[in-house]
Amino acid sequence: MLGTMIYGPRDIRCEEVPEPKILKPTDAVIRLAASCICGSDLWPYRGLNDVDWPKPMGHEYCGIVEEVGSAVTSVRPGQFVVGSFCISDNTCPHCRFGFQSSCAQREFMVGAQAPFARVPLADGTLVATSEIPADDLVPSLLATSDVLGTGWYAADAARVQRGSTVVVVGDGAVGLMGVLAAKQMEAGRIIAMSRHKTRQELALEFGATDIVTERGEAGAARIKALTNNIGADSVLECVGTKESMAQAIQCARPGSMIGYVGVPHGVEFDGQALFFSQVGMLGGPAPVRRFLPYLIDLVLERKINPGKVFDLTLPLSDVAEGYRAMDERRAIKTMLRV
Ligand SMILES: [Zn+2]
Repeated sequence: MLGTMIYGPRDIRCEEVPEPKILKPTDAVIRLAASCICGSDLWPYRGLNDVDWPKPMGHEYCGIVEEVGSAVTSVRPGQFVVGSFCISDNTCPHCRFGFQSSCAQREFMVGAQAPFARVPLADGTLVATSEIPADDLVPSLLATSDVLGTGWYAADAARVQRGSTVVVVGDGAVGLMGVLAAKQMEAGRIIAMSRHKTRQELALEFGATDIVTERGEAGAARIKALTNNIGADSVLECVGTKESMAQAIQCARPGSMIGYVGVPHGVEFDGQALFFSQVGMLGGPAPVRRFLPYLIDLVLERKINPGKVFDLTLPLSDVAEGYRAMDERRAIKTMLRV
């Protein structure tokens, strides 16, 4: 079959790869309904992560179970399933506390930018729908696998609640999903920090009430001006750079929570500044598995449409162009037909 491999910075290839097989009794093999490119895939693409080249790419997935190992009991061939980018047993203490992304048996999904993929720990990782969903719901179901689950976790970790004032730092796909999540959690005010017209429009469509285009000190001053000089109750940090984390802390009121889901690259904290800011922080890789059943239901009931975040769809054979388009910010998020 064809699959996506990265050979080095900006060197993405769609090439012949071996079809995945059941390697352990707890595995499943799925036929993907669609795949996509994650913002986090751009870190190795830009050469900002140490990677053993070549490496298979892709960790967001949904589709039909083809085959299961002998120990798998909760899903069976023919079912439509969605799983998290974090592989988890869903039974260890961390999983039971709802932090499946720190599972004692955690693995990260790989090789999902392809028509078939192997999912380890299938019982703990996969959530099956009761029927095969309509085709037009596939993009939104695919979004639950990572980008929506991660934006949702940012809002959950930032303790967004009814009436909250929320600031979302970052207008990438995760930030936009954070806006959608805050809206579902009935935040009173959702301020999206964005400079890009198409992303501003999508943020407004997902529920943003205000757009702030300024950044840095000017951005923080604008947030203060919008919040009676107080700052936000909840801040979603959805980028992972030194500047975006500083922005998040500057926008947060004392006693607030920052949910940070951008993988940190070059982020450092000043202990004294953090001490006197009196903000709480919770983040890390999103425990998407905790939210999956609920998010899948919201999609199946057509209460949310996170699939709108895909503004470019390409065949798998054009995957390299999908990466380029996201890298150059011509596309928010690329879906791949497999
Ligand atoms: Zn676990």
